[in-house]
Amino acid sequence: MEDFYTIQGEGHYQGHAAYFIRLGGCDVGCVWCDVKESWDASLHPSVAITEMVDRATAAGGKIVVITGGEPAMHDLAPLTAALQQAGLRTHIETSGVYPLTGTWNWVCFSPKKFKNPHESIFEKADELKIVVYNKSDFAWAEELAKNVGSSCQLFLQPEWSKEKEMLPLIIDYVKANPQWQVSLQVHKYMNIP
Ligand code: SF4
Repeated sequence: MEDFYTIQGEGHYQGHAAYFIRLGGCDVGCVWCDVKESWDASLHPSVAITEMVDRATAAGGKIVVITGGEPAMHDLAPLTAALQQAGLRTHIETSGVYPLTGTWNWVCFSPKKFKNPHESIFEKADELKIVVYNKSDFAWAEELAKNVGSSCQLFLQPEWSKEKEMLPLIIDYVKANPQWQVSLQVHKYMNIP
Protein backbone atom coordinates (compact mmCIF):
# COMPACT_ATOMS: atom_id res chain seq x y z
CA MET A 1 0.00 0.00 0.00
CA GLU A 2 2.80 2.38 0.93
CA ASP A 3 6.33 2.39 2.27
CA PHE A 4 8.30 5.18 3.88
CA TYR A 5 11.29 5.89 6.11
CA THR A 6 10.39 7.55 9.38
CA ILE A 7 10.70 7.30 13.16
CA GLN A 8 8.91 4.50 15.01
CA GLY A 9 6.52 6.43 17.22
CA GLU A 10 5.13 3.68 19.45
CA GLY A 11 6.12 0.95 21.85
CA HIS A 12 9.55 -0.44 22.71
CA TYR A 13 11.32 0.91 19.62
CA GLN A 14 9.81 4.38 19.94
CA GLY A 15 12.28 6.97 18.65
CA HIS A 16 14.22 4.60 16.39
CA ALA A 17 14.53 5.22 12.66
CA ALA A 18 12.56 2.58 10.78
CA TYR A 19 11.43 1.79 7.27
CA PHE A 20 7.69 1.08 7.28
CA ILE A 21 6.07 -1.24 4.77
CA ARG A 22 2.27 -1.05 4.96
CA LEU A 23 0.59 -4.05 3.37
CA GLY A 24 -2.99 -3.82 2.07
CA GLY A 25 -5.76 -6.02 3.43
CA CYS A 26 -7.55 -6.15 6.78
CA ASP A 27 -10.77 -7.75 7.97
CA VAL A 28 -10.58 -6.85 11.66
CA GLY A 29 -12.95 -3.89 11.33
CA CYS A 30 -11.89 -1.53 14.15
CA VAL A 31 -14.41 1.32 14.30
CA TRP A 32 -11.66 3.85 15.08
CA CYS A 33 -9.25 2.57 12.39
CA ASP A 34 -7.28 5.47 10.89
CA VAL A 35 -6.16 3.50 7.79
CA LYS A 36 -9.49 2.21 6.49
CA GLU A 37 -8.15 2.69 2.97
CA SER A 38 -5.91 -0.31 3.70
CA TRP A 39 -8.80 -2.76 4.15
CA ASP A 40 -9.31 -3.73 0.51
CA ALA A 41 -6.02 -5.29 -0.64
CA SER A 42 -7.16 -5.36 -4.25
CA LEU A 43 -7.00 -1.55 -4.41
CA HIS A 44 -3.24 -1.58 -3.91
CA PRO A 45 -0.86 -2.75 -6.64
CA SER A 46 1.68 -5.49 -5.89
CA VAL A 47 5.34 -4.57 -5.47
CA ALA A 48 8.12 -7.09 -6.06
CA ILE A 49 9.97 -8.20 -2.92
CA THR A 50 13.34 -7.36 -4.49
CA GLU A 51 12.14 -3.81 -5.15
CA MET A 52 10.85 -3.45 -1.62
CA VAL A 53 14.12 -4.70 -0.14
CA ASP A 54 16.11 -2.36 -2.39
CA ARG A 55 14.06 0.62 -1.25
CA ALA A 56 14.37 -0.31 2.41
CA THR A 57 18.13 -0.85 2.08
CA ALA A 58 18.61 2.45 0.24
CA ALA A 59 16.88 4.32 3.09
CA GLY A 60 19.87 3.55 5.30
CA GLY A 61 18.12 2.35 8.48
CA LYS A 62 18.46 -1.01 10.20
CA ILE A 63 14.83 -1.71 11.13
CA VAL A 64 11.96 -2.56 8.81
CA VAL A 65 8.46 -2.52 10.32
CA ILE A 66 5.82 -4.52 8.46
CA THR A 67 2.40 -3.11 9.24
CA GLY A 68 -1.01 -2.78 7.65
CA GLY A 69 -3.81 -3.36 7.35
CA GLU A 70 -3.31 -6.73 8.97
CA PRO A 71 0.00 -7.91 7.52
CA ALA A 72 -0.34 -11.49 8.80
CA MET A 73 -3.09 -12.07 6.21
CA HIS A 74 -0.17 -12.62 3.83
CA ASP A 75 2.59 -15.23 3.68
CA LEU A 76 5.47 -13.15 5.02
CA ALA A 77 8.19 -15.81 4.83
CA PRO A 78 9.71 -14.68 1.49
CA LEU A 79 9.70 -10.98 2.42
CA THR A 80 11.20 -11.42 5.88
CA ALA A 81 13.84 -13.84 4.58
CA ALA A 82 14.90 -11.32 1.91
CA LEU A 83 15.00 -8.44 4.38
CA GLN A 84 17.10 -10.38 6.87
CA GLN A 85 19.42 -11.54 4.10
CA ALA A 86 19.95 -7.86 3.32
CA GLY A 87 21.00 -7.29 6.94
CA LEU A 88 17.78 -5.62 8.07
CA ARG A 89 15.83 -6.31 11.25
CA THR A 90 12.26 -7.49 10.73
CA HIS A 91 9.58 -6.08 13.03
CA ILE A 92 5.83 -6.56 12.73
CA GLU A 93 2.73 -4.81 14.06
CA THR A 94 -0.12 -7.31 14.09
CA SER A 95 -3.53 -7.73 15.66
CA GLY A 96 -2.69 -11.44 15.93
CA VAL A 97 -5.87 -12.73 14.31
CA TYR A 98 -3.95 -14.90 11.81
CA PRO A 99 -1.14 -17.40 12.44
CA LEU A 100 2.12 -15.57 11.91
CA THR A 101 4.42 -16.53 9.05
CA GLY A 102 7.97 -15.32 8.47
CA THR A 103 11.02 -14.84 10.69
CA TRP A 104 10.93 -11.91 13.07
CA ASN A 105 13.35 -9.95 15.20
CA TRP A 106 10.47 -8.21 17.00
CA VAL A 107 6.76 -8.97 17.22
CA CYS A 108 4.41 -6.25 18.42
CA PHE A 109 1.07 -7.88 19.20
CA SER A 110 -1.65 -5.24 19.28
CA PRO A 111 -4.96 -7.09 19.70
CA LYS A 112 -8.26 -5.50 18.83
CA LYS A 113 -11.63 -6.11 20.49
CA PHE A 114 -13.32 -6.51 17.14
CA LYS A 115 -11.79 -9.92 16.36
CA ASN A 116 -10.21 -12.46 18.71
CA PRO A 117 -6.49 -13.17 18.33
CA HIS A 118 -5.23 -16.57 17.22
CA GLU A 119 -3.86 -18.58 20.15
CA SER A 120 -0.43 -18.99 18.54
CA ILE A 121 0.46 -15.29 18.71
CA PHE A 122 0.78 -15.08 22.49
CA GLU A 123 4.07 -16.98 22.80
CA LYS A 124 5.55 -15.06 19.86
CA ALA A 125 4.84 -11.58 21.19
CA ASP A 126 7.84 -9.46 22.25
CA GLU A 127 5.51 -6.63 23.17
CA LEU A 128 1.81 -6.47 23.91
CA LYS A 129 0.42 -3.06 22.95
CA ILE A 130 -3.14 -2.31 24.02
CA VAL A 131 -4.87 0.66 22.44
CA VAL A 132 -7.07 2.06 25.21
CA TYR A 133 -10.34 3.44 23.89
CA ASN A 134 -12.46 3.25 27.03
CA LYS A 135 -12.18 2.34 30.71
CA SER A 136 -13.16 -1.30 30.23
CA ASP A 137 -10.00 -1.82 28.17
CA PHE A 138 -7.83 -2.06 31.30
CA ALA A 139 -9.54 -5.28 32.39
CA TRP A 140 -9.34 -6.60 28.81
CA ALA A 141 -5.61 -5.76 28.75
CA GLU A 142 -5.02 -7.74 31.95
CA GLU A 143 -6.82 -10.77 30.52
CA LEU A 144 -4.57 -10.73 27.46
CA ALA A 145 -1.42 -10.13 29.50
CA LYS A 146 -2.03 -13.42 31.38
CA ASN A 147 -1.25 -15.37 28.22
CA VAL A 148 1.92 -13.72 26.90
CA GLY A 149 5.42 -14.86 27.88
CA SER A 150 7.18 -13.53 30.97
CA SER A 151 9.62 -11.44 28.90
CA CYS A 152 6.89 -9.78 26.84
CA GLN A 153 6.77 -6.02 27.42
CA LEU A 154 3.39 -4.53 28.24
CA PHE A 155 2.23 -1.17 26.84
CA LEU A 156 -0.95 0.87 27.22
CA GLN A 157 -1.49 3.44 24.51
CA PRO A 158 -4.40 5.89 24.33
CA GLU A 159 -6.39 5.81 21.12
CA TRP A 160 -5.51 9.08 19.41
CA SER A 161 -8.99 10.65 19.41
CA LYS A 162 -9.45 9.73 23.10
CA GLU A 163 -6.00 10.76 24.29
CA LYS A 164 -7.11 13.67 26.50
CA GLU A 165 -9.64 11.46 28.25
CA MET A 166 -7.65 8.20 28.50
CA LEU A 167 -4.07 9.36 29.10
CA PRO A 168 -4.65 10.50 32.72
CA LEU A 169 -6.28 7.13 33.45
CA ILE A 170 -3.37 5.29 31.83
CA ILE A 171 -0.84 7.29 33.85
CA ASP A 172 -2.62 6.41 37.10
CA TYR A 173 -2.94 2.78 36.02
CA VAL A 174 0.76 2.42 35.19
CA LYS A 175 1.76 4.03 38.48
CA ALA A 176 -0.38 1.46 40.30
CA ASN A 177 0.63 -1.43 38.01
CA PRO A 178 4.26 -0.82 37.06
CA GLN A 179 4.56 -3.96 34.95
CA TRP A 180 2.83 -1.80 32.31
CA GLN A 181 4.40 1.13 30.42
CA VAL A 182 2.82 4.13 28.70
CA SER A 183 3.09 4.25 24.91
CA LEU A 184 2.25 7.44 23.02
CA GLN A 185 2.04 7.97 19.29
CA VAL A 186 4.93 10.42 19.35
CA HIS A 187 5.21 10.50 15.55
CA LYS A 188 1.94 12.45 15.57
CA TYR A 189 3.54 15.09 17.82
CA MET A 190 6.46 15.24 15.39
CA ASN A 191 4.08 15.64 12.43
CA ILE A 192 5.62 12.71 10.60
CA PRO A 193 3.88 9.62 9.18
FE1 SF4 B 1 -7.45 -0.78 11.08
FE2 SF4 B 1 -5.41 -2.13 12.18
FE3 SF4 B 1 -7.92 -2.46 13.10
FE4 SF4 B 1 -7.22 -3.41 10.70
S1 SF4 B 1 -6.41 -4.06 12.71
S2 SF4 B 1 -9.11 -2.29 11.20
S3 SF4 B 1 -5.82 -1.81 9.98
S4 SF4 B 1 -6.69 -0.57 13.22
